Amino acid sequence: MSGKVTLVGAGPGDPGLLTVKGLRALEQADVVVYDRLVSAAVLERIPASARRIDVGKEASHHSVPQERINQILLEEALAGRNVVRLKGGDPFVFGRGGEELQALARTGVEFEEIPGVTSAIAAAAYGGIPVTHRDYASSLHIVTGHAREGGTLDIDFEALVRTKGTLVFLMGVTALPVIVKGLLDAGMDGGTPAAMVERGTMPGQRRCDATLGTLRERAAEMEIRSPALIIVGDVCGLARELCWFEKLPLHGKRVLVTRPGDRAGTLSDKLRGLGADVTEFPCIRTEAVRPCPAMENALDRIGDYQWLGVTSAAGVEAFWTCLRGMGKDARALGGVKLAAIGSATGKALEAHGLTADLIPEVYDAAHMGEALAKAAEGKVLLLRAEEGSPALTDALAGAGVAYDDIAVYRTIYDNPRSEELRREIEAGKFDFVTFTSASTVRGFVSAVGADAYLSRFVGLCIGKQTASEAKKYGIRVEIAERATIDALVELAKNAAGYDEKI
Ligand code: SAH
Repeated sequence: MSGKVTLVGAGPGDPGLLTVKGLRALEQADVVVYDRLVSAAVLERIPASARRIDVGKEASHHSVPQERINQILLEEALAGRNVVRLKGGDPFVFGRGGEELQALARTGVEFEEIPGVTSAIAAAAYGGIPVTHRDYASSLHIVTGHAREGGTLDIDFEALVRTKGTLVFLMGVTALPVIVKGLLDAGMDGGTPAAMVERGTMPGQRRCDATLGTLRERAAEMEIRSPALIIVGDVCGLARELCWFEKLPLHGKRVLVTRPGDRAGTLSDKLRGLGADVTEFPCIRTEAVRPCPAMENALDRIGDYQWLGVTSAAGVEAFWTCLRGMGKDARALGGVKLAAIGSATGKALEAHGLTADLIPEVYDAAHMGEALAKAAEGKVLLLRAEEGSPALTDALAGAGVAYDDIAVYRTIYDNPRSEELRREIEAGKFDFVTFTSASTVRGFVSAVGADAYLSRFVGLCIGKQTASEAKKYGIRVEIAERATIDALVELAKNAAGYDEKI
């Protein structure tokens, strides 16, 4: 049984612009064959189980020749695999998608095509340029600026100028002088608005506003590089009014997120939604203590306790898995009251149908201890990390409240030392590094080395304890107003010097 090739348009870079159907195809792939223009954020969506074949690693002259790509697609499909051929933008817009499908059609291998969002429209849109507009342009022309052999451009400039439509040139950075001269010679007014959008829809997007007459000079000043669009036409005049992407509060900010892999998602997505260029570097993970006789024992005698306290989602999961493993469910908890350290831990309880009776005003160990000390009339059971903060137990002990403190999970720092990350940090690649617990600080420092130059970025810390851990290593810190992900995101916005205009 032979497999199948699905040609998928990856969109211009922003992973949100990958189509629903394209994402589904990617998730079911055995092999993904991709080009240089597919963004890292889209490549992250490839399942770990799929093999990746990069056919465009170097600049175009080093990339895998087209015949070889066709051959790879054929071989993989004939071996019975589900092959996704992933291409930047839309596969049929200067993407050679047609050629690849023709080669497959000749062999009888089954194929399918899933269109993508082309950069020709989307990169312009993210630059605040609508490619058509009733007042300014009634047609759109997408043109390649790639020279044929011999270096000449096969473009009928006079015909283009006559259309009075919006002109979008792809692959035109090198040929920019030839394109500008061609249009001017064909009679286009030098005052016609023109623009370039570099790395459109991606966090590092830059736009250059000019007129046809000044475009070369402006692009040279800004050192615009490929991939970039050249857009010529009156619609370019709307960019200043309509640009929204570059105005996002974290646009251009590079943020390293150090949360454990399984919980990084929300924070990263929220930061990306505000325009940040996010790199995930999960530097700790948690592992439930298994078996955990102390916890089983305590849960068997849950009636001895008045309160059960949890301090993280990982603790809630360890507790719940243990309870279920004992063949019990929520009914076994009887009348015990539940305390959670903060809203996220409270939500983790909610996921199992349990509501916290107590969440302290300030989400940290000391405040939870104080609040519990006040509320408790009987014994307290704490199910938390092996290295849980003593501030919680000190507060209980100080108030004479009896407690059992059981370690139900531990933090593992098994991240390999990363010289690459160290170099990037020292070169100032990141504006911010987020720390959501003191253990993420320790995990991060162990990965880059305590002797690394750590004052090159600002550490965005979820709370005071996290910040004091970071300060030990010379990290410059900012502290969130509350120990929540939303407050951390708010902190990033403020640290980026953004004043929300109401
Ligand atoms: N099939 C692709 C185009 C491939 S040709 C599509 O539909 O988008 C490659 C050219 O596309 C680049 O030279 C550049 O002009 C343009 N391009 C691709 N991605 C881009 C991006 N994110 N921003 C600006 N231009 C881009």
